[in-house]
Amino acid sequence: MREIVVADLEWVIEYWPDLVESRMPLTTKPLRQTRTISKEEIVLRDAAAHMERYFRNNLSWGESPAPVDVDVLQTVLDIVVYADDLADDLAEQLDPATGRPILASPRLGEYDARPWLQYALACLHELPDDVVEWAWPRVQKIHERTARVLGMLYHGQTVKVVCPWCDGRAEEQPVGGAYTWKVEVLPSNQVAIVCHGVNCDPPAEHVATWLWGKPCWPITTWTRLAKHVIPEHERAQRARNAIAS
Ligand SMILES: [Zn+2]
Repeated sequence: MREIVVADLEWVIEYWPDLVESRMPLTTKPLRQTRTISKEEIVLRDAAAHMERYFRNNLSWGESPAPVDVDVLQTVLDIVVYADDLADDLAEQLDPATGRPILASPRLGEYDARPWLQYALACLHELPDDVVEWAWPRVQKIHERTARVLGMLYHGQTVKVVCPWCDGRAEEQPVGGAYTWKVEVLPSNQVAIVCHGVNCDPPAEHVATWLWGKPCWPITTWTRLAKHVIPEHERAQRARNAIAS
């Protein structure tokens, strides 16, 4: 029980920047230089930079994310409130002797829920099982809302890498080299990458789970998954080197 609650909360903290940066499409509007930029614009600009870094370092995407039509901002703000409430309620349950200082509530318009999520996480490590159990549905709510929005943002996107296990062999490209990974929302509302390559069959230690006979990697495993793939620009470089030598 404790492990599940802790893992769910850690997952939200890890993917929080993705949730915030999903407001990226708004940044395509050029900022007018004649006025000072608002706090929200600063957040958006930082988020855009973060996203660029994230995709450069991990996976290289076939298409840029679709314009967001969901109210991501509302989700972000709601979760900040949930996180603050949860942190407060858990702090009340702590033994005063532990001396954990109370965390001040977020300011109006705060976009970063992580300080309160981290505080709640620290409390959960110290509190007895029954309190952890009581907190579970609230952590689940935070986890589910985050996952749902990320799923809507990424669903259907092609990941611009060639699968190292089936070499990108697709029905329409049987020699391989096709981009066979797609981001999908699983029936459980989890976001995952699914390989649609022909007979893709990674060894058991490299595949997280299977979906309709296809290997499937939930978002929580993407950091590990990224270690197995060669980014597109490196692939091209290697191909050039092979020709040159
Ligand atoms: Zn594959």
